[in-house]
Amino acid sequence: MVSGIWEEFLKIAREEVGSRVVETWFKAISLQRWDMLSKEVHLKAPNGFVRDWIYKHYLAILQVHLGRLLRIDMPKILFVDHIAEEKISGHNVSSTVPVVIPASVVQQKNILIRPAQKIFGYMNKNYSFSTFVVGPHNSLAYAAAQAVTEKPDKLYNPLFIYGGSGLGKTHLLHAIGNEIQEVNKHIAVVYQTADRFVNEFIHAIRFDKIHKFQLKYQNIDLLLIDDVQFISNKEQTQEAFFHIFNALYDAHKQIVFSSDTYPQNMKGIAERLRSRFSWGLVADIYMPSLETKVAILKKKVALNNENIDDDVAYFIATHTVSNIRELEGALIRVLACASLNKQPVTLELAKRVLTQTTQYATRTIDFQHIMTKVCRFYPCTVEDLQSKSRNKDVVIARHVAMFLMKSLTDKSLRDIGDFFGGRDHSTVMHALEKVEEQIKRQPELQQKLRRLEEEIMHG
Ligand code: ADP
Ligand code: MG
Repeated sequence: MVSGIWEEFLKIAREEVGSRVVETWFKAISLQRWDMLSKEVHLKAPNGFVRDWIYKHYLAILQVHLGRLLRIDMPKILFVDHIAEEKISGHNVSSTVPVVIPASVVQQKNILIRPAQKIFGYMNKNYSFSTFVVGPHNSLAYAAAQAVTEKPDKLYNPLFIYGGSGLGKTHLLHAIGNEIQEVNKHIAVVYQTADRFVNEFIHAIRFDKIHKFQLKYQNIDLLLIDDVQFISNKEQTQEAFFHIFNALYDAHKQIVFSSDTYPQNMKGIAERLRSRFSWGLVADIYMPSLETKVAILKKKVALNNENIDDDVAYFIATHTVSNIRELEGALIRVLACASLNKQPVTLELAKRVLTQTTQYATRTIDFQHIMTKVCRFYPCTVEDLQSKSRNKDVVIARHVAMFLMKSLTDKSLRDIGDFFGGRDHSTVMHALEKVEEQIKRQPELQQKLRRLEEEIMHG
């Protein structure tokens, strides 16, 4: 459970600050324990240097995201003193020595985590124009993104980028924000995903802070809204957003959207808003060609100061199907396997790594095994899963277990229902629908499930 949560945190951190930071800093520390009442989270660092660096640079990320995962609002982050721990470990106890945080850091912390800014404001620095490979599939979106970066509001307002998942939309939005902020630190940039925007709006309504919410969004210079399709069917949020849009537009502030759908084809969006989406420029990104995929792989490898042969790059590019996120995933698996086994990155190795994962179906998997693995990723036990508990965490985990049982085995809904203490097949059906619905709403879940599947198949 601890490692599941920490893994989840690493994933979020990777999105926020990039894999290099995660590999260098976060992978060096570990989550030891936490306490809901005192709101303390205890981490362990290998040395004082790592500990101080984390405090100085990444405290806000730890508080916000680890806090969210552990359901502790704004936790106190403490480091287990490694020397104290070593000394007393013989007695099977360990103590946590609170680290004194310098005042400068505390101040910085307050700036970073004003409540309203909890979730946005972290631009992922790795998502820049310089790390983006341009090919025919994205050249229009790329050129438009550069144009609005150079001349915000002068050329295309709003800019609307659309395309399938994993094709580089988020990357481009961050690149625009990063570049504009690079040139002028005083420009107020807000990057927000539409589903977080919806949550923020709901929160504002509930706590009667709608005025503050509107003010916040109307007083910025550049608004980047990612995956705007998530506001569909949310009438009230759309209404609020409509006013924000008008205010910013009238004040000549640049707005950029991304979406998985062309504006005219978006469902559940008020017409007046939908028409505004195409007032400026609508640019699409589609699947890259094989050559572009190879170019992307080579660039990613070069950015890591590594090198792969053309035949390996071509192999990876032809064996990953759907999008660039998967392409990256495949590359990382190949590189990781090579480095773990201290082997060079050869075609042989790439074949071994990538074909292994597609041969899933040949292994027989039993329910017990799936449950055990699910419990590593979710805060519950095997007994909880098979119990009648309606605890929220347990219910989610149970749904996921049912979902994986259906997708990874050839057992029927009834078999699965029986296994969970004689539940009806329609209950299982409902669970599967729930998970599918959630996957649509939270792309991270899909990745989590994929990792879980991988664990089940190979672990
Ligand atoms: P989307 O938002 O469209 O789902 P992302 O922007 O999250 O996709 O891209 C998925 C991954 O692929 C990211 O890690 C991103 O850096 C990478 N990526 C996508 N397009 C490119 C590109 N043209 N050059 C380099 N990396 C890319
Ligand atoms: Mg995205």
